[in-house]
Amino acid sequence: MKRITIAALAGAAMLYAGAAFAQQPDFSKVEIKATDLGHNTYMLEGQGGNITVAVGSDGIIMVDGQFAPLHDKIKAAIAKISPLPIKYLINTHYHGDHTGGNAAFHKDGATIVAQDNIRVRLAAGTTNALTGNKNPPQPADALPTDTYWGGSKTVEAGGRKALLTHIYNAHTDGDSYVFFDDANVLCTGDIFGNTGRYNTIDFGNGGDIRGLIRALDAYIKVSNDQTKVVPGHGALATKANLVAFREMLVTSRDRIQKLFNEGKSEQEVLAAKPMADLDAKWAATPEQATNWTRMVYNSFRRS
Ligand SMILES: [Zn+2]
Ligand SMILES: [Zn+2]
Repeated sequence: MKRITIAALAGAAMLYAGAAFAQQPDFSKVEIKATDLGHNTYMLEGQGGNITVAVGSDGIIMVDGQFAPLHDKIKAAIAKISPLPIKYLINTHYHGDHTGGNAAFHKDGATIVAQDNIRVRLAAGTTNALTGNKNPPQPADALPTDTYWGGSKTVEAGGRKALLTHIYNAHTDGDSYVFFDDANVLCTGDIFGNTGRYNTIDFGNGGDIRGLIRALDAYIKVSNDQTKVVPGHGALATKANLVAFREMLVTSRDRIQKLFNEGKSEQEVLAAKPMADLDAKWAATPEQATNWTRMVYNSFRRS
């Protein structure tokens, strides 16, 4: 029983890419670090997905909110930047290391904005197809109330404009990326991680390698060499990091799709080790290598 629990927790940590659930993080030790991106825009790092803060003349737009127990620390870090209220909290996707703060920031007065599948998945609860782990349904306070389906949506606060664009079926089926044109800041969510490691694909909740590549194409198109790229996890990135990451995705898709189309089973593809040369660079552990191949393979099972 204990072994199953530990394996399941390790899987969850993989899916959340750095959330480190397996270690039962001590949130009291987490410090929130703010990086000035210029033009009244900041990147906040703590535990969980990176946060972006854009300060307008009468309010703040925030992208992602990490875990609920960090609310007070995040709020204090933002108050040091500006005394203005947080008007909007945008969710890039439903995972708990990005939406855990929803209810608390909502109670503070923020409107939660997201692609509508996030509302649906948070309300219903979810299952991780890789591990079988379940996330319980979330209370009404944690649900986005200002949602959109496809295309783009603009959120505005005191002259600051956040342009959200939905990428269908990528890391999940509810991903938005956010671009602040005036600051040349791109928030990618977990579609892109700047950790030097493989990404995760939540294929049980609409994730698909082909969507990740479509998203990277969009990111590269909207970026120039000065763009400050806030990744889902990892350090502030550049267009060059996006290009290298896309190359890894394309290689993964090409090799594993070929085997899938030949009718190979998941076990046969794992045994063939099609990613062995890239695993040396992109996989932190053998388990991460296996999971990446499984997640890419299962993308093709979706259709
Ligand atoms: Zn994440
Ligand atoms: Zn995620």
